[in-house]
Amino acid sequence: MSHRVPPAAPQGSPPLGRFLAFLDYDGTATTRECNEVVLQTLVGDTWRPFEDEVRAGRMGHAECFDRQIGLVTAPRAELLGAMAACAAPAPGLGEFLAAVHAGGGRTVVVSAGFREVIGAVWLRHGLPAVELVASELVGREPDSDCGDRMGGPQRNAGPPYRVAYSPRLGDCPRCGPGSCKAAVLRALRRAGDTVWVFGDGASDLCPAREADLVFARGHLAELCAAEGLPWRPLDFVAALANLDEVAA
Ligand SMILES: [Zn+2]
Repeated sequence: MSHRVPPAAPQGSPPLGRFLAFLDYDGTATTRECNEVVLQTLVGDTWRPFEDEVRAGRMGHAECFDRQIGLVTAPRAELLGAMAACAAPAPGLGEFLAAVHAGGGRTVVVSAGFREVIGAVWLRHGLPAVELVASELVGREPDSDCGDRMGGPQRNAGPPYRVAYSPRLGDCPRCGPGSCKAAVLRALRRAGDTVWVFGDGASDLCPAREADLVFARGHLAELCAAEGLPWRPLDFVAALANLDEVAA
């Protein structure tokens, strides 16, 4: 493997020391929309009307995913296992992450997806470590006579499910309370940083609005084009080749 990031100077700043890569997970770091694939398998077409509501601007993306996960009646191991099994890293993802790390840059993955799933996929594919901001799958309230024995009862409980979003997400009129990824970007961005946002969905628009450059596909690409944001097609191979644009 070779890349064009210059090696860190023996003294002074690392070349990507002012660079933050801000990545969505499902359909961005992965080749497929695994949540949609798994929902279709487990609940048929019943997840689709919520998606239409988001596209029409009548429902926030966070409420949408929560309602969709609420449809699932499968055991949690089956749900989380199917989501992990579905995932394959996008071409060039590992090399891009490695180059950012080697250059002294930072990468954060910010996702509505489940921490256990993303962690399992990262481990299975030996991907470079990243900061992860993700959700927890919360099951039903534990029965009073068995909750404690299960250990962390809601974290291990079965359906009905809901999505517990990371407390690092922020409030936003567009995304809803405690649902906006841009709050994570603002918390991580330091003065002088260059921020590239990688995404594919409505939940990535708020951080995209604050990015120096967006790598987008799908719905996010449409939204970026409509708003005149600086964007390129989502491609980690191309992103890696262009890292020297931000290298000091
Ligand atoms: Zn927002």
